[in-house]
Amino acid sequence: MDISTLRDEARDLLDETVALRRTLHQWPELGNDLPVTKEHVLAALEGLPLHVTLHETTSGIAALLEGGTPGPTVLLRGDMDALPMHEDTGLDFTSKVDDSMHACGHDTHTAMLVGAAKLLTARRADISGRVLFMFQPGEEGHAGARFMLEEGLLDLPPLADGSESPVTGAYALHISTNLPAGWIASKGGSIMASADQMHITVIGRGGHASQPHAALDPIPVACEIVQALQTMVTRTIDVFDPSVVTVGRISAGTTNNVIPETAYIEGTIRAVSERTRTKVRDGIRRVAEGVAAAHDAQVTVEFLDGYPVTVNNPGSAEFSLDVAREVLGDSAVVRLPNPVMGAEDFSYVLNRVPGSMMFLGGTPRDKNPATAAPNHSNRVYFDESAMVDGIAVYSAMAMRHLNPSAG
Ligand SMILES: [Zn+2]
Ligand SMILES: [Zn+2]
Repeated sequence: MDISTLRDEARDLLDETVALRRTLHQWPELGNDLPVTKEHVLAALEGLPLHVTLHETTSGIAALLEGGTPGPTVLLRGDMDALPMHEDTGLDFTSKVDDSMHACGHDTHTAMLVGAAKLLTARRADISGRVLFMFQPGEEGHAGARFMLEEGLLDLPPLADGSESPVTGAYALHISTNLPAGWIASKGGSIMASADQMHITVIGRGGHASQPHAALDPIPVACEIVQALQTMVTRTIDVFDPSVVTVGRISAGTTNNVIPETAYIEGTIRAVSERTRTKVRDGIRRVAEGVAAAHDAQVTVEFLDGYPVTVNNPGSAEFSLDVAREVLGDSAVVRLPNPVMGAEDFSYVLNRVPGSMMFLGGTPRDKNPATAAPNHSNRVYFDESAMVDGIAVYSAMAMRHLNPSAG
């Protein structure tokens, strides 16, 4: 099976891919309910020989393509949601929705996955098995992938001949301005972090600011907890299995001459292994309770579970790098030395199916990846021609996964 022409085939799809991407960019939607986006995706898929399942708990779309010969199913993921922020790119297809922006490039992911569906439909006869296109909402903190899994994403019907065709591999691309346009980067093992929230309330006793001995001031206790958390992380966590604890918000009090009753600390906890994730949470509780006890204050510590660590199956990651090299050439493919501390809800899929998450370079040609506005910036923009490489890599992953021996 020849995949050397995939990039040319993807290039033929660039104009329509750019058009779809720009439409999505102008009409960004947030969370798990994306009615406009869903309509655009369904319109773009119209006429393709796909078995489409519309999810009910979210705007998720699962589209299944059956190949020319029987075999297992491979999953390709594209996320569709935007971020609650104002866009300041000045692009002529800038967001038309107040305080919503496709600042993480999910509009490009959706458009590329549609492109891959078109390309793979054209190459259907070469496919031994099925391709499941997962268009998911709610990646930005709303666990859209988890909802789609809970709704039976992986519970696929058998093939027409009655044979089973389980999902045996899952692949996702994420565009980034940290890499030159058209490059692919990935690694085996942990590639993205877990992201949990911590909420700590220090409870003292309110009173007059001139008589702290008659009250119990929670503010210095909270400050001590913030400092002690950083000491706990650097002194107890292995630097080669790292964690980041950042206090992003601290609030207490109302005016200069009142000691408040409570002080509140909120932050994020990142880790790249479940072991460290657990250890850090235990450490936060111990430090907060210990510091509070030292000052005779009360404390409550709560954690909100976020996305788990995103773990690439080592074999799948090597395979994805090999396939990317075959499509794009050796010089455009990078093995990441370490994970990134962002989080991804593709982690839920990779906890169920072996697979690989890859980054796709999208730095504008006139920018340097080291200084280009990053994902989530109000000024970020991407080189749309990188979508050619993304469509080709998505398609190649599916074809090679299903036809591993064909050279
Ligand atoms: Zn994001
Ligand atoms: Zn993203």
